[in-house]
Amino acid sequence: MLLKLNPEHLLLIRTHAASTYPEECCGIILGYLANESKTVVEVIPTENAWSGETLEDNKRRRYAIAPEIMLKIQKEARDRSLHIIGIYHSHPDNPAIPSESDRIQAWQEYSYIIVSVPNGKAGELKSWHLDGDRQFQEEEIEIA
Ligand SMILES: [Zn+2]
Repeated sequence: MLLKLNPEHLLLIRTHAASTYPEECCGIILGYLANESKTVVEVIPTENAWSGETLEDNKRRRYAIAPEIMLKIQKEARDRSLHIIGIYHSHPDNPAIPSESDRIQAWQEYSYIIVSVPNGKAGELKSWHLDGDRQFQEEEIEIA
C-alpha cells in the first residue's frame, strides 16, 4: 500500500531521530485509509520507553512505546476520526531496514517507517509493512 506524507512530517521524524542519537527515537503516525493508500495526517513523537540497559539490549538498539501512551493517542485519534496507521523509529548508525526484533513486535495493520541516522545525521528513510507470512515488505512513499 502507498503511504502519503508531507514534507513537514518527514522533517519532524528526521529532526526527532537526530535529536535522540545515539539512541533510537520513536513515535506514532496518525492518518486514514482511502483508495488503496494511507494518508498521514499527524506524526506524534513519543518517548523511547525501552527498559533494557545492558550493552546488547538498550535504547541504542531497541525502542518501545509505553502501552498507556498508545491507548491515550488511540483514543484521541478516534475522537478526531483518525487511526493509528503506523509507528516510526530510528536506526542509529544502522540502515533503514527492520531488525528481527522489529519484525517480532510488529502489528499487521501498521506501517513502519524507519530512518537511518549515520553519525547523528538523519539519512535514508523507508517504510515497511508485514505481508501475509509476517515478513516485512518495503512500502512505497509519496511525498506531497
Ligand atoms: Zn528497528
